[in-house]
Amino acid sequence: MMTSTATGPARSRTAATGDLLDAAAGVGAEERQLQDAVAHFARQRLRPGIAQWFEAGHFPPELAHELGDLGVLGMHLTGYGCAGASATSYGLACLELEAADSAFRSFVSVQGSLSMFSIWAYGSAEQKQEWLPRLASGRAVGCFGLTEPDAGSDPGSMRTRAVRQGGDWILSGAKMWITSGSRADVATVWARTEEGVRGFLVPRGTPGFTTRDIGNKLSLRASVTSELSLADVRLPDSARLPLAEGLRAPLSCLTEARFGIVFGSVGAARDCLETALAYAAERTQFGRPLAGFQLTQRKLADMSLELSKGLLLALHLARLKEAGTLTPEQVSVGKLNNVREAIKIARECRTILGGAGITLDYPPLRHASNLESVLTYEGTSEVHTLVIGQALTGVPAYR
Ligand SMILES: Cc1cc2nc3c(=O)[nH]c(=O)nc-3n(C[C@H](O)[C@H](O)[C@H](O)COP(=O)(O)OP(=O)(O)OC[C@H]3O[C@@H](n4cnc5c(N)ncnc54)[C@H](O)[C@@H]3O)c2cc1C
Repeated sequence: MMTSTATGPARSRTAATGDLLDAAAGVGAEERQLQDAVAHFARQRLRPGIAQWFEAGHFPPELAHELGDLGVLGMHLTGYGCAGASATSYGLACLELEAADSAFRSFVSVQGSLSMFSIWAYGSAEQKQEWLPRLASGRAVGCFGLTEPDAGSDPGSMRTRAVRQGGDWILSGAKMWITSGSRADVATVWARTEEGVRGFLVPRGTPGFTTRDIGNKLSLRASVTSELSLADVRLPDSARLPLAEGLRAPLSCLTEARFGIVFGSVGAARDCLETALAYAAERTQFGRPLAGFQLTQRKLADMSLELSKGLLLALHLARLKEAGTLTPEQVSVGKLNNVREAIKIARECRTILGGAGITLDYPPLRHASNLESVLTYEGTSEVHTLVIGQALTGVPAYR
């Protein structure tokens, strides 16, 4: 379908989003319906408040159960109140949430792919029964503590320890940069033991377990980011995730969460490009709309290529995930490419908005600043480059 605009010749339906290729054309009706429902929620509930929440550094707590009611928390998992949705559906939900703000997709990623997935994949029947239905409904919040003040890209150097004492475990250490940390009813905490790395479920209020929010953030301001402190926290053995053995367990959770980022970053980029296209059509300088300048068109054309390519890549990875063949290296390709391109798009769109682009009245700079965090968490761009380098050459170059 073609639509006409104030700026001249008719444009295709997909042109307004910057995705000329209509990259999502092959997405099924059910998946598209779910995407539309999330986009509707974002329009009604998230977009109207985001500039204010970003400025105030606030994530409204009631959004947890609203997102649970929407059905997006752990939606790609099965049983225990989870929707069992396809990887494509989950990805498209992440895309729509991050088009509103990376904080919302971050909350959903951490809840579903880090907290819930760690319990779903490695927990006991009792742990699953106790936590998963509440986490899926958003009546409980979860977090995932792997990073430490001195162990970020190299989680193998973690210092948090769990020592057996009779039938119990004593945990001591600190975790840093933990999304939803102070809001969480249960924290999945990874600690070194004599047998290797193990995961523990630490409920809020356990004696010795405290949290402190990290302030002064210039990025992901509408997301809660906390430090966790564990001072001789005593836990029964039933708090240990029985199937999690070694670093492989938390790393598998991160692969799950990164998959959502591959889609989410496309959402942020799409929102920026839509904004820039609309602004360029309206704003007149030198007697013509910005959209009519060749330099602006070159920016728009280049960004459109990367947006469509990013979405095609995300959808390809979703199909591989659904076929059960997706590898961590392939997720690294998606995360590295799509976040890197999304941040470039966000910055370029900001230039098209000129001075207006530096305010919270328009989303590109907010997205660009959020994407700085997305570039760093779930494996930095450098670490994903090294993962790809190792996959290509067989030679690890981390040390
Ligand atoms: C907003 C936010 C939310 C987060 N949420 C969570 C969470 O919920 N749970 C959690 O566990 N963690 C979380 N993190 C932590 C995140 O995963 C880490 O910040 C990330 O892994 C990088 O660790 P670091 O910050 O310690 O940086 P470092 O590891 O110190 O890295 C600093 C720089 O050095 C580079 N570098 C490191 N090693 C190498 C190498 N071998 N070769 C080349 N370059 C290298 C890095 O790429 C980076 O550019 C979050 C972070 C942020 C910012």
